[in-house]
Amino acid sequence: MKNKPLISVVVPAYNEQEVLAAFHDRLATALEGLLYEFEIVYINDGSLDDTLAILNDLYARDERVAVVDLSRNFGKEIALSAGLHKAQGDAVVVIDADLQDPPEVIPQLVAEWENGYDVVYARRTQRKGETWFKKASAAGFYRIIQRLSKVRIPEDTGDFRLLSRRAVDALNTLSEQHRFMKGLFAWIGYKQKAVYYDRDPRFAGTTKWNYWKLWNFAIDGITSFTTAPLKLATYIGFMTALIAFVYGSYMLIRTLIFGNPVPGYPSLIVIILFLGGVQLMAIGIVGEYVGRIFTESKRRPLYFLNDYKPRRADDADASA
Ligand code: UDP
Ligand code: MG
Repeated sequence: MKNKPLISVVVPAYNEQEVLAAFHDRLATALEGLLYEFEIVYINDGSLDDTLAILNDLYARDERVAVVDLSRNFGKEIALSAGLHKAQGDAVVVIDADLQDPPEVIPQLVAEWENGYDVVYARRTQRKGETWFKKASAAGFYRIIQRLSKVRIPEDTGDFRLLSRRAVDALNTLSEQHRFMKGLFAWIGYKQKAVYYDRDPRFAGTTKWNYWKLWNFAIDGITSFTTAPLKLATYIGFMTALIAFVYGSYMLIRTLIFGNPVPGYPSLIVIILFLGGVQLMAIGIVGEYVGRIFTESKRRPLYFLNDYKPRRADDADASA
């Protein structure tokens, strides 16, 4: 019996007990009718609820399911990487478990893969159920990173996408700890293509993100793709030196002509505070990079596995 091409669906899950059953049903329905073999790789990212039990249950019921259980919560980016390492498919679809990425879009992604694209990303045309502030800050972030970095990271795109085998292999060679996946997907290159869809609000459960995490995520994105902020200190330094020179000359001439009536305490304190602030900021920016050099230089493995159960369909093939 000739094996059909295999498509892996990689699903990171952290405390998703409310949605997983519904997600799996909708995914299974969406995959029906596609003429491929499927492998659905769930990654339990150290969930504290019943996520793992539900995944094991899905594993028992559906022989296309594989379960990767990480030793603790490593964060979505690393959970995704673990899934990509384990995925065996000729193409790999990456999708969130919370049904914000509609599984019904997968056939469109697959169709573009058949047309020869290596990275087919799903781009949302609207975001339901998200605050204007989140939308505005996301838009601002993309504008900044686009300006600063040479890699073109598509806007309004999450991690929901399809990757060809060679794109996955390329990603798997990247060993960095700070994995800004959206950036890495773009960085590897190859033929990329967008497919449009409406993003739904979360089906159930709550988002794992808050603004502090998003802010840190944005800093991670910027620092891992550009060193432009390091130049900021240089330019601000030049500017203040120039201003100081002009102001100094003015003071000199004024003192020569009018003498020195009242010492300028207010201007002095303003300048000292301003420069102190600028210096601390510059040190902080340098520190962001130094910190990342520190974590990268330890060369720790990305994650540890508690357990890995490959899809049972392979056993069936082997014994058939
Ligand atoms: N996720 C994960 N580890 C984490 C946080 C999130 O594996 O530490 C998974 C989560 O279960 C979901 C996906 O990543 O499948 C997206 O998470 P979430 O919906 O919280 O993020 P958002 O959609 O708000 O960006
Ligand atoms: Mg979500």
